[in-house]
Amino acid sequence: MSTNDRVGTPDAIIIGGGIGGLSAAVALTRRGIRVRLYEKAHEFGEVGAGLQIAPNCTRILHEYGLLEEVKSLGVLPEAMVMKDATDGSELTRLDLDDLERTYGFPYMVIHRSDLHRTILREAERLGVDLRTGLAATAYENRTLATGVPGARVTFADGTSDEAEVVIAADGLHSVARRLLVDDEPVSSAYVAYRGAVPIESVRSHDVSETEVVVYVGPRCHFVQYPLRGGEMFNQVAVFESDKALRGEEDWGTPDELDDAFDGMCDQVQQGLPLMWRDKWWRMFDRDPIETWVHGRIALLGDAAHPPLQYMAQGAVMAIEDGWVLGEHVAAQGAARTATGSGVDWDAALAAYDAVRPEHCHRVVTTARSWGELWHLDGVPRRQRNQVLRERDTYDYTYTDWIYGRTALTPGQEPPPYPTFPLASVAVREELSGV
Ligand SMILES: Cc1cc2nc3c(=O)[nH]c(=O)nc-3n(C[C@H](O)[C@H](O)[C@H](O)COP(=O)(O)OP(=O)(O)OC[C@H]3O[C@@H](n4cnc5c(N)ncnc54)[C@H](O)[C@@H]3O)c2cc1C
Repeated sequence: MSTNDRVGTPDAIIIGGGIGGLSAAVALTRRGIRVRLYEKAHEFGEVGAGLQIAPNCTRILHEYGLLEEVKSLGVLPEAMVMKDATDGSELTRLDLDDLERTYGFPYMVIHRSDLHRTILREAERLGVDLRTGLAATAYENRTLATGVPGARVTFADGTSDEAEVVIAADGLHSVARRLLVDDEPVSSAYVAYRGAVPIESVRSHDVSETEVVVYVGPRCHFVQYPLRGGEMFNQVAVFESDKALRGEEDWGTPDELDDAFDGMCDQVQQGLPLMWRDKWWRMFDRDPIETWVHGRIALLGDAAHPPLQYMAQGAVMAIEDGWVLGEHVAAQGAARTATGSGVDWDAALAAYDAVRPEHCHRVVTTARSWGELWHLDGVPRRQRNQVLRERDTYDYTYTDWIYGRTALTPGQEPPPYPTFPLASVAVREELSGV
């Protein structure tokens, strides 16, 4: 039996109830689209760790009327500070109060499940038809019973559903992505350990309770920031796995964690015992693709552009995707007809596809090069440190292209930041010796 037979036809189906799928459901429902969302898990949820969200995301949350709630649940840090993990010295900082004045919206950190729950509640409030426990297994473009173009999705239990458009927000291992490209996730050989703990656990450590601090070291980095109004403290330890480089299947395991940070500064060493050791996240991205739309089926979020997390833009880009699509639907001012939403989906999807893949391509490739920069050793590390130490705190050259208002058309997309000037740095004598 078709699921659709039981409940009538939605205008849009979204597959995946992560931050990307749920926020796209909010974006479209706000624009009068009847949305049904399917999640394969039996309950909606997110990992209990932290998430950084930049002004290009908080601007959208403000537009959705969610920013005040999100601010009350999260933390607005005073600064983002980069330090050398080897000696603990400060390399550069962003003043996040000034950053908010510059971009109009805050840079903040929040517990993932708090953000996810806030968006889920908004989707419920708006009347999104939310379904759990159904995994999409196949997609096809087809003419709907009403005679208008659309797409059908089939689920693992044999049921199916159809709508004018199907948005696949099914994450890194997206089934729908196979419609567009026969690719696989690309392993970085890096693995992330997380640990969000009560703030009391780190009070005796040398930590900042008001800043996001990133320690960058050879083949590793360590991130710290407060969560939940300062009640919790989030840490992320990331390193390159020797086992992965040797081609071993069982890589990134806890026995590699402590060795990877051997020789790093005390602040990092103090944090390591607090990392969760029963779960870890191998870090994959995918090569960028230039189109995410296949007829009436479109990719969104990590399904379209999974990044390495060095720019802290994965969830942010997913939220931007939904907002852009919603804006292009709204721009048409379409009126509902007897056969459906009245939206010219081909036009809306083409506008979405004209702007988002190129932007996200830049973020995905910049995240890769940012990771290389963070993990340098030897003379290149000293060159990087010199450039970062000489950077003016209030120089936004490296953030303007990303934290400004999300582009709706290719013409609004700012130029990418200039190449990081590593090669041109002559490392000073006193620094180059060690
Ligand atoms: C260590 C780490 C730190 C990060 N830090 C940040 C950060 O600070 N800031 C930031 O912006 N991003 C960050 N990211 C990236 C961010 O977590 C992701 O980019 C983001 O969560 C992607 O959201 P999504 O909804 O697209 O995909 P997902 O969160 O993967 O959600 C996909 C959903 O689809 C469901 N699903 C999958 N397949 C099916 C199917 N066949 N049928 C139905 N449902 C299905 C899944 O169960 C899941 O609920 C980080 C990532 C990592 C690993």
